[in-house]
Amino acid sequence: MPKELLLQVTPEIAANELLLKDYLSKQIKVASAEIQHVSILKRSIDARQKAIKINLKVLIYLKGEVFQENILQLPDYPNVTNAQEVIVVGAGPAGLFAALQLIELGLKPILIERGKDVRGRRRDLKAINRDHIVDEDSNYCFGEGGAGTYSDGKLYTRSKKRGDVNRILELLVAYGATLDILVDAHPHIGTNKLPKIIEDIREKIKECGGQVLFETRVIDILIKNNEVEGIVTQNGDRILANKLILATGHSARDIFELLDRKKILIEAKPFALGVRAEHPQSLIDSIQYSCDYRGELLPPAPYSIVKQVAGRGMYSFCMCPGGVIAPCATSPGEVVTNGWSPSKRDQVTANSGIVVELKLEDFKPFAKFGALAGMEFQKSIEQKAWHLAGKTQKVPAQKMIDFTQSKVSKEIPKTSYVPGTTSIELGQVFPGFLTQILRQGFTEFGKSMRGYLTNEAILHAPESRTSSPVRIPRDGITLEHLQIKGLYPCGEGAGYAGGIISAAIDGEKCALMVGEALNKKPRII
Ligand code: FAD
Repeated sequence: MPKELLLQVTPEIAANELLLKDYLSKQIKVASAEIQHVSILKRSIDARQKAIKINLKVLIYLKGEVFQENILQLPDYPNVTNAQEVIVVGAGPAGLFAALQLIELGLKPILIERGKDVRGRRRDLKAINRDHIVDEDSNYCFGEGGAGTYSDGKLYTRSKKRGDVNRILELLVAYGATLDILVDAHPHIGTNKLPKIIEDIREKIKECGGQVLFETRVIDILIKNNEVEGIVTQNGDRILANKLILATGHSARDIFELLDRKKILIEAKPFALGVRAEHPQSLIDSIQYSCDYRGELLPPAPYSIVKQVAGRGMYSFCMCPGGVIAPCATSPGEVVTNGWSPSKRDQVTANSGIVVELKLEDFKPFAKFGALAGMEFQKSIEQKAWHLAGKTQKVPAQKMIDFTQSKVSKEIPKTSYVPGTTSIELGQVFPGFLTQILRQGFTEFGKSMRGYLTNEAILHAPESRTSSPVRIPRDGITLEHLQIKGLYPCGEGAGYAGGIISAAIDGEKCALMVGEALNKKPRII
């Protein structure tokens, strides 16, 4: 039987197979040559001490013990060309994993996506970055793979159900992600690798007989006697089916407006809003690893920080080590930031959303919009940022200490945000209470992370699409909308996920509930 061991080693030992075998041979008192193979099951960094250690969980195979490479297979999907059709709107992680799960159940997904496929989408991202042109259907949030396609591809989640998380991670590996994502405590894929994985998922859906429609925007949902009948596209085409998984993400404002207009129950939902802070990665490394130079063996350091300020949580969100700040607007006339990293996280800057939790009462000035009050609050800040920075995709920016002292920065050095920055006192972008909390919060952050509060850090505003400003209520068991039969609100836009993995899990859950309603049970393979 292979021996399982938990150990803490230096980064040098963790990175070198021979050194690791030598180390283990002493631990288990067996000659190094007797160790056939060491499988790493879990890996994390312990940076609490000055001498950084790597925690490993390993499985040691001695000579003569049977060792097999961990090759993950795709499920044995049936052909669903002639099966019952289910509409899935949105090809983000929720929609894609819903479609795959429907196929496993023997149902035919019709996956409808307003944006372009991953290749076509690239050109539109260039247009935002270089020409300040925002295509309302194809941008950093809309298009094949959804909001997570051009991201850091962080794959951790607060979900307590390890089984669900592992299933998604294993499927991603089967579709081409590296085995490392099953091992690392904080796995990530990276912008350069995600598109190919997403393309392969789409090709599998098509190969199994599912339908995938790009550049097809849903503009209406057909409903009769409180039951779904189908959808209408922007071209006036009707696609009919009485089961609809609605996975349109947190930025599909037209979908929220459509539901509101049709008097389909939706609710305002609190979210978080703030800025995206960019530091030199070397500075974050020196804070997190207590060193002058990170060296070759440690990855660019991430950070995670949270403080209570004036009774509200202020915290880092979607931190991207070695990453780039991206222009994530989904309409002309607004500015929105978020961040991405390549798989090696080898850019010279580290960025993170730094956001403050909002409460429903903050949306009072927008009360006339009812359930859309939070969305209008969010929109107003994004539009103000656009006006202040010069009515392009340039972003309002300020040095961090200058912001805490309400001082306009004399000049803003070049940041990773390609469309450029305009020096603005960021207090002008936010309501007063939010500015106060952010100012105080950054001062508090500086006390916990020495060196964090610095004018080397540039704040970009706003970071506003942290989660959906709307919830689409659904039954806790059937996952069907509370009023409309056959409508399954799904993923982040409906308020049931916050990130790639949790959205994918929710997609699978909704598909399973559609299967349940249609008497289709998951096959045991
Ligand atoms: P989405 O991914 O938003 O997908 C919704 C899809 O629906 C979109 O493709 C959209 O085009 C489509 N759609 C909308 N309206 C319509 C319509 N009317 N008709 C047809 N189609 C429609 N999360 C992480 O976990 N890790 C990260 O590292 C990470 N980094 C991110 C970086 C960036 C730049 C961004 C923008 C987001 C990042 N996120 C990250 C968040 C993550 O992408 C989302 O949580 C996740 O994608 C939500 O999945 P979803 O399927 O619910 O919705």
